[in-house]
Amino acid sequence: METVLVLVLESLLLATIPACASELFGARMLRVVPESHDQLDHLHFMLVNSPFDFWREPREVGMPVDIMVTLSELPELIHTLTSQGLTAEEIIKDVGQMVVERSLAVYARGPRAMDWEDFHDYTTITKWLTSLSKDYPNLCTLEEVGKSYEGRPMKLFMVGKGGADNPGIFIDGGSHGREWIAPATVTYMINKLVTNSTEYDDLLSQVNFYFMPVINPDGYDFTFINPNNRFWRKTRSDYRPKVPEESEEPEELEENPVCIGVDANRNWGHHWMEGGASNNSCRFTYAGPEPFSEVENRVVRDQILRLRSKLKMYLSFHSYGQQFMYPWGYTHVYPDDWKELDDIARKAVSALTAVYGTNYTIGTTNNIFRRALAGGSHDWVKSVANVKLSYTVELGNSGNLFCPNSSDIIPSGEETFQALLVLADHVKETYAH
Ligand SMILES: [Zn+2]
Repeated sequence: METVLVLVLESLLLATIPACASELFGARMLRVVPESHDQLDHLHFMLVNSPFDFWREPREVGMPVDIMVTLSELPELIHTLTSQGLTAEEIIKDVGQMVVERSLAVYARGPRAMDWEDFHDYTTITKWLTSLSKDYPNLCTLEEVGKSYEGRPMKLFMVGKGGADNPGIFIDGGSHGREWIAPATVTYMINKLVTNSTEYDDLLSQVNFYFMPVINPDGYDFTFINPNNRFWRKTRSDYRPKVPEESEEPEELEENPVCIGVDANRNWGHHWMEGGASNNSCRFTYAGPEPFSEVENRVVRDQILRLRSKLKMYLSFHSYGQQFMYPWGYTHVYPDDWKELDDIARKAVSALTAVYGTNYTIGTTNNIFRRALAGGSHDWVKSVANVKLSYTVELGNSGNLFCPNSSDIIPSGEETFQALLVLADHVKETYAH
């Protein structure tokens, strides 16, 4: 019986994959551990200048780095690693097969009603936010604040009942399309706050929560279209020059290929392109043709600017890595108030760890990665929008990398919600009147 089911599921999957695009099958995820600063520098260089997909970026000597590589790129990767004396351990033998095993149900069933037993596409999440705002009109509002590159409505969901002047926390997720656990965790927290509002009455009377659970809706939805797109990271904007059909110069274009999409978290306009980002559109860390080239980032930026006088905290959820990071990314210099940022992060993480024992690293992004990473949202939000307590959280997901099981959602939601309560309580105690 089980064999029959597997066969049916596999045929469903294969039916959705264009024959030319099944590169994930046979793709490997390799882990390398740099043992010297030279090796670490080489991995940093590869991150920005190679075509390989870094699932876990280089941080420091002795810390593992995860690289996903298609079968056709494998010899080149092995060559460049061995030339530096790096050896790779195979962690995932067949990434395509992992997608089949862990995410097939999502592709096979199509959209269904919102829950946290499974991952959901952007339309389902947006519909659910609409119904929540109708069911709890005294507690939440939903506002369309812009449209994505491909025309998806972008919505701001506000939870709070003490009036617009209350101190606010801005929370986003899904800046990178493939990081499914981030929107799932953010929506879990929304659900918890709204459907248990009596339990959090005091907090919701004194603090407003502004949520945008999926700020790269095109990239996120692209990962739901078909399993081959499962690891799409960037936006879907297209800066390729329009070539007349009978162009005389196709060769020049082939020499300098232009690819789709921008790394949304390298595109924010604060010390843009000053480290950890690429100006090559075909790289995973492409910062875009200019700061804020991406309409989705401009939409989020404008909401943060509109609310800036009330916002006291910013939280941006990503995966994976179990890191609780604060500015700066672009420089190794610490912000003047780093101790306060650090203390608050430590209290939040301690509440998170108390739930399931998940450990997080805490620090400035630059310090954690030992390298400049410029163009991230938390730098801009702190420096330009002047939101004091600005964080990026790389959620942990029990080793399931970018392909978490749906059963990882609720534990991630539960532990992260405990951190959110500590953070929100700090905002309430410090800024509410
Ligand atoms: Zn991310």
